[in-house]
Amino acid sequence: MSEEENSMSEIENQEQNGGVPDYIMDLEDVPSKLPSHLQVLKTRVICNMDAPQHTDTLQYSGVYAALRVDNSVRLDSFCNNFKVEVKRFTDDDIEFDMIGIDPAIANAFRRILIAEVPTMAIERIYIANNTSLIQDEVLSHRLGLIPIDADPRLFEYPDNAGGENNEKNTIVFKLHVSCKKGHPRITVKSDALKWLPNGSELIADNTKPNADSKAKTFTSFSCSQGSRPEFSKKPPGPYNLDIILAKLGPGQEIELEAHAVKGVGKTHAKWSPVATAWYRMLPEVILMKDVKDDLAEELVSKCPVKVFDIEDIGKGRRKATVVNARACTLCRECIRGGQEWEDRVALRRVKDHFIFTIESTGALPPDVLFTEAVKILEDKCERVITELS
Ligand code: SF4
Repeated sequence: MSEEENSMSEIENQEQNGGVPDYIMDLEDVPSKLPSHLQVLKTRVICNMDAPQHTDTLQYSGVYAALRVDNSVRLDSFCNNFKVEVKRFTDDDIEFDMIGIDPAIANAFRRILIAEVPTMAIERIYIANNTSLIQDEVLSHRLGLIPIDADPRLFEYPDNAGGENNEKNTIVFKLHVSCKKGHPRITVKSDALKWLPNGSELIADNTKPNADSKAKTFTSFSCSQGSRPEFSKKPPGPYNLDIILAKLGPGQEIELEAHAVKGVGKTHAKWSPVATAWYRMLPEVILMKDVKDDLAEELVSKCPVKVFDIEDIGKGRRKATVVNARACTLCRECIRGGQEWEDRVALRRVKDHFIFTIESTGALPPDVLFTEAVKILEDKCERVITELS
């Protein structure tokens, strides 16, 4: 076999072994695991009294080459280890564990959720009349921040229509409230926004329409949005109906139109689909020594979130146990009080286990938001692959 053929077959074998060269796979004495002290440093953040240690993740495949341990990421082992476990799921929020993933990927999901998953938000306000105490720009800002309950996947970005506001890219709401003279003050809430399925009703310019032509408005809908089956079941509107917008005194009035369009959070926070999206690494609380009797009582009373409990070990003696490490907030109270406490309790974080929480503002359910974030990351990866190939 020629030298070139040899190297080609080496590369092919290497590909079959997930990128690990044959001569490593064939070694009989290659340790399958790191020594336990190194395994801890590789997989855990150690939370000492003053600062966390070993916060980095070691990606380089040859980082443990001196120990003849392969550190490369293999697709098959990633697929075997990766897990998502949903812990809590309501209409507004979801908490799930994402296990077996690098912090960079978990953070990518968080950032995409905050800044790149699109929603509909009020972008343009046309004020016909505002005699309330609240200024036009403040009122407009308040309206912009109202979460709109409309599936953004049913709409296009306004840029795609060349600046035209049509039924595919704009949702129009009308707000017309007044407080009659002699009546008590009224509070205007978001439920006063009424959807206009046929588009804007305000005349866009001062020219009077001819008898045979329609007056020009701020949108040009070719058909009613009400005819779309998606909206017949659930018409677009504010997700929360009790957001206070203004207070009107006797004789005051607000009349306006609010136009919502599709956008992303990196343009303005009003388009962000999440109230918050965050994660924390799974806490690990280890008792390095037996903590008994009065010390056990002291340890239990130190923890504000009841991570520890007392176990009866007979003959009137008690021992502290860890019962709910997941609740640990890393306040470090349990290791405060001298070196002896730091020797008794070890606080750690699991580097590849993330407790992920997504709170939706209401535009999309929280589980859908996450799947949309996955699709966006997938698109980005495909773009990179296309650019490189
Ligand atoms: S760090 Fe705080 S929350 Fe965590 S176990 Fe110790 S006392 Fe409890």
